[in-house]
Amino acid sequence: MAVRTGAQFLEGLRDGREIWLEGERVEDVTAHPKLERMAQTLASVYDLQHDPELHEQMTFKSPSSGEPVALSYIIPETQDDLMRRRKALEIVAHASYGMLGRAPDYVNIQVTAARQMAKVYGDNDGRFSDNIIAYHEYIRENDVCLTHTFGHPQVNRELAVTELSDPYIALGVVDTTSEGLIVSGSKLLATLAPFSDEIFAPIYRPLPPNDPNSEKYAIGFALPVATPGLKFICRESYDLGRSLYDYPLSGQFDEMDALAVFDNVLIPWDRVFAHGDVELGNLNLGRVALWRQYMQQVAVKNIAKLEFVLGITHGIAEAIGITQYGHVQEKISEIIDTLETVRAYMRAAEADAEHIEGGVGIWPGAEPWIAMRHWWPDAYTRIMWIIGQLAAGGLMLTPTEQDVEGPISDSIAKFYQGAAIDGPERVRLFRLAWDLVGTQFGSRQALYERFFNGDVTQLRMRRFQTYDYTRADQSVKSFFENL
Ligand SMILES: Cc1cc2nc3c(=O)[nH]c(=O)nc-3n(C[C@H](O)[C@H](O)[C@H](O)COP(=O)(O)OP(=O)(O)OC[C@H]3O[C@@H](n4cnc5c(N)ncnc54)[C@H](O)[C@@H]3O)c2cc1C
Repeated sequence: MAVRTGAQFLEGLRDGREIWLEGERVEDVTAHPKLERMAQTLASVYDLQHDPELHEQMTFKSPSSGEPVALSYIIPETQDDLMRRRKALEIVAHASYGMLGRAPDYVNIQVTAARQMAKVYGDNDGRFSDNIIAYHEYIRENDVCLTHTFGHPQVNRELAVTELSDPYIALGVVDTTSEGLIVSGSKLLATLAPFSDEIFAPIYRPLPPNDPNSEKYAIGFALPVATPGLKFICRESYDLGRSLYDYPLSGQFDEMDALAVFDNVLIPWDRVFAHGDVELGNLNLGRVALWRQYMQQVAVKNIAKLEFVLGITHGIAEAIGITQYGHVQEKISEIIDTLETVRAYMRAAEADAEHIEGGVGIWPGAEPWIAMRHWWPDAYTRIMWIIGQLAAGGLMLTPTEQDVEGPISDSIAKFYQGAAIDGPERVRLFRLAWDLVGTQFGSRQALYERFFNGDVTQLRMRRFQTYDYTRADQSVKSFFENL
């Protein structure tokens, strides 16, 4: 199958999957009032690939079938490949205004990166290398939408998972059979789960290397979302079912987050990518650096998001006549600087792309991505603060569409007008800003930007512990030597 249409994508979600939302099992995610609009948003992402003007830019010829397949599955061999992939990512990111952290291209690239590292997955058992290569081909040829889960559940971080009172709170192997692994437990945090065809669970979290129980948790695999015994427990929905005038973002882009819970689930052997390999799990951030590939999607998404955010902020400042104030200009410039800094990180990482040990294809440079990854959460938080500072009480001058169109519309026209904008337009703009910074959707976006890529605090601790200080130390030594 070549690239799927939106209709084919939606059809694939009607498969009896076990999704729990607000106390109920969802029968059909494409028809549920709190999920259907997001399903439609994703369907429109799939349809982009069939737009005659975009098709060429979003696809490449499959090396196995010759069919056009999504560029997020390409193994980049050259700079040109990286640029082609970036262009395809930009189309999706701009179509969703950077509001979809988990457009399907994100995990597609992650699996592709794992496939590029297939040799390392197979270091201790060659089957796993073959499995990841075959799986990559499967998702590429079937244009699969994936959720992914790295982490163990947040129960007691003081203890290793091997030390928790119940050995199957975290996902672990219960039995090994001729058909595959039987697993029970849970994994966090499956963003996009209700709308995904498959779950990808690479091993990731550090496990105690000298504890024999660690092996049970050192597993990597992929499964269909609709696998018997596998259920997803969603957080509450932020799509309130209200009009897009009132909730323009919540009503379209609530990509949903869920805990994946496994109850004696069979993972067939051909879907196992790692088993009992504690060393591989502990290598995952360093040698098996999937992030060096998927950070390109992150940067493209951040640029699209920042352009949108800049437009909103500029619009607010003009709407209420505050652009002449120096500090307002300075704050809007900060957003511009942030936008251009992300662009610079992205271009540096792409320019530094290289071949790396154990991996096929080229890999964008690590250092620009690491610096961006550590800096971004604070930069995004600062921008959300700037919007609050500039919009101020205007964020509360946000009556609903019913008010704007109802019996008090004259009052809206008179008292809600701005310097260069009429009342209804101004309310619409400020409601958009509120959905970005103040609603549950907006708060989740901020939390997402802080944590989706790991906990920066722990990442920075690791940075401190692993950085090569030779040049820095030498610099001080030479300073004293030259006094
Ligand atoms: C909106 C959202 C979407 C997400 N989507 C996904 C997804 O699709 N797939 C996925 O796999 N993950 C996803 N994540 C999970 C994300 O990877 C984790 O939130 C992140 O890695 C942090 O882990 P945690 O939430 O378990 O926090 P914890 O690790 O429990 O940390 C909680 C706090 O304790 C501190 N802490 C904990 N342990 C230590 C330690 N050893 N040393 C120092 N400080 C410590 C942390 O600094 C932090 O302040 C998502 C998260 C969010 C918020």
